[in-house]
Amino acid sequence: MALRFFRFSHLLGAAAIAALLPLAAAAQDPVPAKQVFGAVTLPSSGAPAPIGSYAKGCLAGGLQMPADGASWQAMRLSRNRRWGTPELLGFLERFSGDAAKLGWGRGILIGDMSQPRGGPMLNGHASHQIGLDADIWFRPMPAKPLSAEARETYPFASMLDKSKFLTVDPQRWTPTHAKLLLKAAAEPEVERIFVNPAIKKKLCDTWTGDRSNLGKIRPMYGHDEHFHIRLKCPPGDKACKPQAAVASGDGCDKSLAWWFTPEPWAKPKPKPDQKPAKPRFTTLADLPKACAAVLAAPAAGGARVDAGGGARPQLRPAKTGLVPQGDVPDAEGGEDQ
Ligand SMILES: [Zn+2]
Repeated sequence: MALRFFRFSHLLGAAAIAALLPLAAAAQDPVPAKQVFGAVTLPSSGAPAPIGSYAKGCLAGGLQMPADGASWQAMRLSRNRRWGTPELLGFLERFSGDAAKLGWGRGILIGDMSQPRGGPMLNGHASHQIGLDADIWFRPMPAKPLSAEARETYPFASMLDKSKFLTVDPQRWTPTHAKLLLKAAAEPEVERIFVNPAIKKKLCDTWTGDRSNLGKIRPMYGHDEHFHIRLKCPPGDKACKPQAAVASGDGCDKSLAWWFTPEPWAKPKPKPDQKPAKPRFTTLADLPKACAAVLAAPAAGGARVDAGGGARPQLRPAKTGLVPQGDVPDAEGGEDQ
């Protein structure tokens, strides 16, 4: 039974716009935007809309990915980061079915998506801010459903042999891993996929099928325990700022070879006589103006997801204070480069 994710108009409500005005003063305060967005536990009411860019933006009218589906399980539920646009939820549902058909267990384990109203996060990611990014584990969904408790502690599995420099562990990597990544890359709405440079190299060295979408799979720090799928701005979403298109070709070139040089791993050397730069954090004023309205908007009564089979979205009760964070360090800087 198919989930249906409804999209209404692309406009923010007039009430939300009016609420922007008193926030103008607050936007002057140098409060890190990640603290504000990281404290919100429910989505804004109104139409779903990605606003701004993947690493500097927010999400209006976010929808929550159901914790369970026929071919997916969402993980680390306490992080409250399984929110997205209807396009992302619909994509994950379809892709999870394709993954199961490829032989990827019962389907996929879904990691972080976005916060209820998107925006910067207190830890873990540079992007994931507008409801179009999702992390997928490099472990398939097991046959027996994991309890909510087990989903908090279920261990990640790195694809790397950590005793060597940037090397995929041949004991862990299988042809199905490669098929899964290339299947995702072949989807027209997928903009980029981030994987560890060692994984990209493995694909470059071993993939014998169609390579026309291999260029969408990009090498990045981390991403050895999960891969990161980024969707394009949905057509008609004018507030969504697209990223520059990936260069043509399969990406198995100098840009990949660079990752295997010392340069990306060297600590930046401070220049002599240079004063240490003040740490600069993103404030609300750095984000698109509409993000203040998203923060000020009333909470949605519920995500507009018609699951048809009883898999209702599990909305948390409204409350103040920080959402408990997962304990898994996960570096994803620089994804918007
Ligand atoms: Zn990610």
